[in-house]
Amino acid sequence: MSTEFGFELQVCQWAEDHWPPGKSRDSPVVVARQLGTKRRRWDTVVIECDPEGLAARANFGSQRLDSDLLHVVRNAPAAWAWYREALPDPGYPWRYVRQAVHQAADRGLIERRRGDGGRIELRRKWPYPDWVERIVAVENKPDLDASAARNLAPQLERDVALGLADAVWVATGATGGAVEPVLLEDIPVESGVLTVERDSRGASAVEATWQPRALDPTEPGTRIVDRPEGGTFDASACQFEVAAPDWKASKRLEIAERAYERGWRSYADSMRPDCRHFVFDTTPAVARPACEAKDCHQTQRECAGSCPEFEPEPPAWRQRDWPLEGGPGRAIKRLLDRQRERQRPGE
Ligand code: SF4
Repeated sequence: MSTEFGFELQVCQWAEDHWPPGKSRDSPVVVARQLGTKRRRWDTVVIECDPEGLAARANFGSQRLDSDLLHVVRNAPAAWAWYREALPDPGYPWRYVRQAVHQAADRGLIERRRGDGGRIELRRKWPYPDWVERIVAVENKPDLDASAARNLAPQLERDVALGLADAVWVATGATGGAVEPVLLEDIPVESGVLTVERDSRGASAVEATWQPRALDPTEPGTRIVDRPEGGTFDASACQFEVAAPDWKASKRLEIAERAYERGWRSYADSMRPDCRHFVFDTTPAVARPACEAKDCHQTQRECAGSCPEFEPEPPAWRQRDWPLEGGPGRAIKRLLDRQRERQRPGE
C-alpha cells in the first residue's frame, strides 16, 4: 500500500465499514473522496446521516442536486403555485430559476405544469429531507514526517478556523512506537489523529490516537485568505474573511450531495479499466487497481490514456459472457457501481 492513493482507498474502505473510530455505529455513513470547496479539497469525507432522512433522500435519485436544483426542490410548495411566488428570491435572474425548475421536472424531482396565462407552476413530490447530521473531513498522510506536518498544519488550521466540517482528522500510517511520531508533530490540537495499520482490515486496523475538537458549522467561520510567513522582512497583516452560517450550510449540503452521488469508488471513471493491463488486486486492506504491465499499484494520474503502456482490451474480450460481458474493463466499473449503490440505503 505504498502510494497515498492506496492509503486513501484503505481509509475510505475502513470508514465505510467501521466509522466512527472506537465506537459502535448508530447512523449510516456515506464516504467519498476528494471533495470540498473551490479552495479546499478534503481527501476523505464521511457524511454521518439521519437514517430516515437518508432513506427519503433516495426519492430524488442517485444523481447529485446542485445548488440551483436544491433551491427549487427545498422550496417547492405542497400545492400548485407560480414558481416566482413559490420560491424565495434567489438573488440572481429568475430565468436561471425557471431553467432549474424545468431541469428538476425533467429529472422527476418535482411536478410542473402550465397555469393561467402560460405561467409555469410547480408542486413538490416529496419534501427534501434533512439527511445530513455531521460532515467529517479526513486528511490522509501515510508518512507524516516533520516536513509533511509543516506543510499540513496551515491547511488544518484553515479547516478549523472555517469550521465547515464538524470535525477534522489526520490519518497516518501507524509506526508501532510507544508514542506515534505524529503526536509530536506541530499540527493543530483541534484535529484528531487516526493511526492506520497498513495492509490490515477490520475495526482495529485504525485507531483514534487523538480525539478532535467538535467544530460548530452553525457559527460564522473565519476564512484565512493570506497568512504571511512573518519574520524580520515580512510584517504584513493576515487577511481573512468571515464565512456566514448560511454560506456554510449551503456548501455543506452541496458537498453531501456530491458525496452521495460519487461515493469513493468513482476513481475508476478517471482511470483506464479498459486497458488490457488493468486488474483489480484484492489486498488485505482494500481491493484496489493494479497494473500488470508496470507490476505496481498505479496512481490515478499515471493510469490515463497518455500512459505509454496503455493497450486497449482486445475486441475478443468484449464478446465474453457474463460476468465479463462488454469486457473486463466494463465489468470492473459495473462491480464498483454496484458496491457504490449498496451504500445508499433506501434505493
Ligand atoms: S498500462 Fe498504463 S493505462 Fe494500462 S493499466 Fe497500466 S497504468 Fe493503467
